[in-house]
Amino acid sequence: MPILIKKAKRINDLPPYLFAEIDRRKREALARGVDLIDLGIGDPDIPTPTAVVEKLIERATVPVNHRYPNSSGLPEFRQAVANWYQRRFGVKLDAGKEVVSLIGSKEGIGNMAVAYVDPGDIVLVASPCYPVYHIGTAFSGGRNYFLPLKKENQFLPDLDSIPGDIAKQAKLLWINYPNNPTAAIADRDFYKRVIDFATKNEVIVCHDAAYTEMGFDGYRPMSFLEVEGAREVGIEFHSLSKTFNMTGWRIGMAVGNADIVSGLAQAKSNLDSGIFQAIQEAGIEALKLGDSIIEPSRKIYQERRDILVSGLRAIGLDCEKPRATFYVWVATPKGLSSAEFTAKLLDEAGVVTTPGNGFGDAGEGYVRFTVCVDQQRLKEVAERIRQVSL
Ligand SMILES: *Cc1c(COP(=O)(O)O)cnc(C)c1O
Repeated sequence: MPILIKKAKRINDLPPYLFAEIDRRKREALARGVDLIDLGIGDPDIPTPTAVVEKLIERATVPVNHRYPNSSGLPEFRQAVANWYQRRFGVKLDAGKEVVSLIGSKEGIGNMAVAYVDPGDIVLVASPCYPVYHIGTAFSGGRNYFLPLKKENQFLPDLDSIPGDIAKQAKLLWINYPNNPTAAIADRDFYKRVIDFATKNEVIVCHDAAYTEMGFDGYRPMSFLEVEGAREVGIEFHSLSKTFNMTGWRIGMAVGNADIVSGLAQAKSNLDSGIFQAIQEAGIEALKLGDSIIEPSRKIYQERRDILVSGLRAIGLDCEKPRATFYVWVATPKGLSSAEFTAKLLDEAGVVTTPGNGFGDAGEGYVRFTVCVDQQRLKEVAERIRQVSL
């Protein structure tokens, strides 16, 4: 007799997975032999730079790397992160106290709630957003207070709209610029307002900076830590995933306030044993090479963005030309819901996109396109969508 398998309440209480319907339609279309163009996933199709791969191959054979790594990261990797922050953002970090390695930033984002959220605590999260922020809260028994990102506010959260008692009770505030899924960007002035809010209400600011290296037309997004006062209230999550086309490698970092970083490191050290050291050594190589290996991908994504955006606009779809990220956030036409438009694009055009409401209620009315396919395929997209009956 099989035993009764009962999942934890935190799993049973997970919000409905809104991408399930699109996943099902996608599988059906593939089974029918439809030539799908998949603009659904945010995962670079460009390979990791050769120098980084070669470093891994070389360092994978070294026996000292076959043993347990340190959960917080090799001192050399943490120093390489500090050097990169200094070079790229002019931010000086103490590698021993203000930097921790992550098994991809997703891991650190999830563990932030383990470290800082008690049952009943409030966490301020944008809607739409990368889902890990609010899932982490829920897994720790906290309560999410969602801040809608609206076009009229340039997809920045309106901190003044947060009721005083909520602000006072809040433990963490999650922000993410350049933003997934809206592709919005933030300036120094916004970060200053965030720091004022956090100082006044004693809230820890968690900035997810995964896309700072994917800026176009010469635009270089800033680090939250460049702003005066940020180090007193915040931690920044970063990753080699999108920057160096290394999503499969699982390597990232969190930097910032020494006490906040130390709390995260403490949670981690009880749950994981760090990143394979050879991967950290390859990561050091990537950070050292920096812009010289980032620029070629930046150029590719920028050209693809131009093709997709001009194609979509030519057929009358409403979208901004993003200044950063590999996402394009498109308003649904003719009052269609996100789900309806995504389904039409898939069924009638063989184009896979992601419904905006899958990232939160406030994403309703939008669809997210990525540019993780080559130019040839992207040129086909608008042609195909032109045929869809709207
Ligand atoms: C891709 C992505 C991540 C996750 O990156 P990893 O380092 O691969 O875990 C984090 N935040 C945002 C907003 C992302 O889009």
